[in-house]
Amino acid sequence: MKKIILASNNQGKIKEFNAMLSGIYQVVSMQDMQVEEVPETGLTFVENALIKARNASMVSGLPALADDSGIVVDALGGRPGIYSARYANHHGDDKANMQKLLDEMAMMVDGARSARFWCAIVFVEHENDPTPIIIQRGWEGEILREKMGDNGFGYDPIFYVPTHNCASAELSPVEKNKISHRGKALSALLKILKKNQ
Ligand code: IMP
Repeated sequence: MKKIILASNNQGKIKEFNAMLSGIYQVVSMQDMQVEEVPETGLTFVENALIKARNASMVSGLPALADDSGIVVDALGGRPGIYSARYANHHGDDKANMQKLLDEMAMMVDGARSARFWCAIVFVEHENDPTPIIIQRGWEGEILREKMGDNGFGYDPIFYVPTHNCASAELSPVEKNKISHRGKALSALLKILKKNQ
């Protein structure tokens, strides 16, 4: 089985990727290969995913898969966007990030709460790969007024999924992977990788 490195330290993402990649790739983590995180200095999800993938591939010498993702709220001009993980200033503090977003959205009426999760996935064969595979997918929904459900990670408890009439955190992991931004992006990538084999 081909070895790839997954350029993420986010446990929520790692679980979702492993569920979809098991049996297809031997996925190694950044920790396995002593890859340190790099500053995400891009202005778009794609730029940041490329930075992470190239860095992981450079240090490990392996093909790399990276995702940069976040939640984009229309009423806030697209915020938190690429800053989703550090919205309340402490990187990865899901509780504080959700509370900040709930507070900012408190005065927004029902018709003004539209949002989407966004995911850019990048696959590079090697550090200088001039033809990275880049896929982007979104997942439409709304910002809830309070948290619901215990599954998932990040903003899942406050993301309403109209097609299923529940919060993202109320979906099972399998259901979420079928319809989510990351699930759709990863299955599109896997199709391309299979064709290229
Ligand atoms: P990244 O690791 O810099 O790409 O940060 C992604 C951040 O976006 C995460 O820490 C979450 O806050 C948020 N996010 C991305 N995807 C999801 C998801 O599927 N559910 C909930 N939050 C997500």
